[in-house]
Amino acid sequence: MALESLDIRRRSASQTSPPDVRKHTEVAKLIDISRCIGCKACQVACMEWNDVRDDVGVLDGTYNNPIDLTDRSWTVMRFYEEEIAEKGLQWLIVKDGCLHCADPGCLKACPAPGAIVQYSNGIVDFKQDNCIGCGYCQTGCPFNIPRYGVTDGKAYKCTLCSDRVGVGLEPACIKTCPTQALSFGTKEDMIDIANARLVDLKERGFEKAAVYDPPGVGGTHVFYVMPHGDPALYRMPRDASISPLVALWRSGFARTLGVLTMVSVAVAGFFHWMKVGPVDPDARPPREEE
Ligand code: SF4
Ligand code: SF4
Repeated sequence: MALESLDIRRRSASQTSPPDVRKHTEVAKLIDISRCIGCKACQVACMEWNDVRDDVGVLDGTYNNPIDLTDRSWTVMRFYEEEIAEKGLQWLIVKDGCLHCADPGCLKACPAPGAIVQYSNGIVDFKQDNCIGCGYCQTGCPFNIPRYGVTDGKAYKCTLCSDRVGVGLEPACIKTCPTQALSFGTKEDMIDIANARLVDLKERGFEKAAVYDPPGVGGTHVFYVMPHGDPALYRMPRDASISPLVALWRSGFARTLGVLTMVSVAVAGFFHWMKVGPVDPDARPPREEE
């Protein structure tokens, strides 16, 4: 649900730029994986605040439940076991959901005007009233986030509680986290906290600890402290970027190709008509008797 109370920086499939918006401070959520205990309080708080209820899931041999993001589960805790050199078997817990990219591939790919908007504070929001359920946003998203409604076929994902943020509150998941694994504030402040955590983790033997704020999408408004560094361990892309096909689509290439194809068919039809003339229905061969 897009909010009229927040200034929109850009909107999907809109040729004209929105009127100049007041410059809002960029906000961000920091997920410190080293502090997460996998209690799923954030998952529950998300459902509570947004008033969505998912089906009772199935046991797949992991602690993941639901197993994947859905149109009614906008954040999901994922549990991985990894053998890590010099550290032994490690349990990695990752809070999955929209990263609110600074340069959102979903918005760039979306052909429906105003179905996806980005507010001036950086939050990316879906406006289901304008969504045509084509699925292009999923193609454009480097993190495989949008999911489609079982009843309405429209796209859904985490809103970063834009309704709460719009009135000066923090997202529901931040409020509920018991270990301060989640922090929310200005992007600048969150980067400071993340860097301080890196110093602490490195002192405690996590030399490879790193911040995941992928530059391929211009950085994100939800970013991570990863104690073991390598994003692939946490099933996140190392070089997240928007598919070149989306850039091609945005450049108008597909539309130009479509127009050229239509013109070629019309020209070919014209020359065929000039050469062969109109079809004479009486000249058709008689139907074979059955
Ligand atoms: S499904 Fe995604 S890409 Fe398609 S209109 Fe809806 S939001 Fe836009
Ligand atoms: S993570 Fe995917 S759905 Fe979220 S803003 Fe980025 S491209 Fe869009």
